[in-house]
Amino acid sequence: MKKIGVLALQGDYEAHIKALKAAGAAPFEVRSRDDLQKAEAMVIPGGESTVMGSLLERFGFLDDFRERILAGMPVFGTCAGLILLAKDVEGEDPAAGVVARSPAAQEKLRRRQPTLGVLDVTVLRNAYGTQIDSFHAPLVTSIPTVPTLDGVFIRAPKIVRVGSNVEVLSSLKSDPVLVRQGTILGATFHPELVPGAGIHAYFLTLV
Ligand code: GLN
Repeated sequence: MKKIGVLALQGDYEAHIKALKAAGAAPFEVRSRDDLQKAEAMVIPGGESTVMGSLLERFGFLDDFRERILAGMPVFGTCAGLILLAKDVEGEDPAAGVVARSPAAQEKLRRRQPTLGVLDVTVLRNAYGTQIDSFHAPLVTSIPTVPTLDGVFIRAPKIVRVGSNVEVLSSLKSDPVLVRQGTILGATFHPELVPGAGIHAYFLTLV
């Protein structure tokens, strides 16, 4: 069975553990560099990307995590997890809807928000609004085993730029919501909250 680490510093990691078990993997919680070393692949849950990023930095395995991914370890991030994977992050204050677009504002944001920065996309945080603007939407994907699924969007980001090496597997209207760059998979929504959604089984095929 594949040993899949689930980053368990914050967020809905338990839902991912359940989904991975249901998909036939052996998931376990990752809270340290030692835990990370045991993982064949990693999942980063939804939650709060700023908190997860700071904790990864404080617990001293942000750089190791990035290096493992760059060395080919498959990783799947959902919502805040996708934000942590993204190369560029825009937007900071959901209530004010502030978007940091100038280079100086971006730099300030990057300093405040440590990320892994391995997936060549730009994300805009909290792009649909605050918690009360969360919603469900039916999605169609280009993954043969997952033709359709129920997208759960909770204070979701929008992917506003995709690099040429990034494949869009599903979109909502014109916004990419599920993307893949080699063995890096990212969703702006929460498939872990929909039992049997099939995306975890798909991720395991990349491992
Ligand atoms: N809004 C959160 C963030 O910016 C993500 C929300 C989620 O993961 N459901 O990190």
